[in-house]
Amino acid sequence: MSLRIVVTVKYVPDATGDRHFADDLTVDRDDVDGLLSELDEYAVEQALQIAEDADDAEVTVLTVGPEDAKDALRKALSMGADKAIHVEDDDLHGTDAIGTSLVLAKAIEKAGYDLVISGMASTDGTMGVVPALLAERLGVPQVTLLSEVSVEDGTVKGRRDGDAASEQLQASLPAVVSVTDQSGEARYPSFKGIMAAKKKPVQSWDLEDLEIEAEEVGLEGAYTTVDAATERPARTAGTIVKDEGEGGKQLAEFLASQKFI
Ligand SMILES: Cc1cc2nc3c(=O)[nH]c(=O)nc-3n(C[C@H](O)[C@H](O)[C@H](O)COP(=O)(O)OP(=O)(O)OC[C@H]3O[C@@H](n4cnc5c(N)ncnc54)[C@H](O)[C@@H]3O)c2cc1C
Repeated sequence: MSLRIVVTVKYVPDATGDRHFADDLTVDRDDVDGLLSELDEYAVEQALQIAEDADDAEVTVLTVGPEDAKDALRKALSMGADKAIHVEDDDLHGTDAIGTSLVLAKAIEKAGYDLVISGMASTDGTMGVVPALLAERLGVPQVTLLSEVSVEDGTVKGRRDGDAASEQLQASLPAVVSVTDQSGEARYPSFKGIMAAKKKPVQSWDLEDLEIEAEEVGLEGAYTTVDAATERPARTAGTIVKDEGEGGKQLAEFLASQKFI
């Protein structure tokens, strides 16, 4: 039977862009270009490698996000994923991590799965909690923060590298895993992959399709509230020291004044 892998991929604001908060203190997603979270590219890569090693496997990429989030799905499809699911609904505006995990879990159940692969954290929210929340909601084991992952005989195995030790972990499928940025470089989409992605299926679901009430998500259903947000002051120009024989001394004095030495 085919190994069904679902990869959760997030469409995030480009960190190199000028990001702002909207009036309701949510991130202003209309004002900035977005892209597939770089940390989720590692999850796509690991899913593709597991699928290549399996006799029969299918990789589905799943996102919860606005209309433009389709760009993240297209990128994952052009890397080699087989199909995509986009959950989009106006009532999702303001959804926090707990609400996002509800939507993702319902979509994963509806799609059918043996293995869910997530990134270690998103590059915008960076909470790193969604994989654990997902496992809890799905009622399956979680093996998080893996630097190495493989699937064999209905079991997912992996290595988690800590400061003091590396652990070898395993769980029976179905399961949720998350992979780190040490799990292996993500492939670049080839021209053939980009062309093929245009023909791959992208399914769209809204909250009604997932039998989720609007009050369970959005700002109304959020367990967390942003009370205030202050933009960081613009960076000031640094001090440029022209070395006229005293450069080393001036550098040491500067480092000492900042308590670096
Ligand atoms: C339209 C919209 C508006 C939102 N507004 C707010 C808001 O105002 N306040 C707020 O707190 N949150 C909001 N969210 C949710 C927020 O963007 C995060 O998705 C959520 O809080 C998860 O937190 P995180 O990004 O830190 O996840 P992490 O736990 O850091 O993510 C870990 C992994 O989970 C998966 N993942 C996380 N989010 C998604 C996703 N959306 N789709 C697919 N996979 C995902 C990825 O694999 C990721 O690598 C909104 C989401 C949407 C779609």
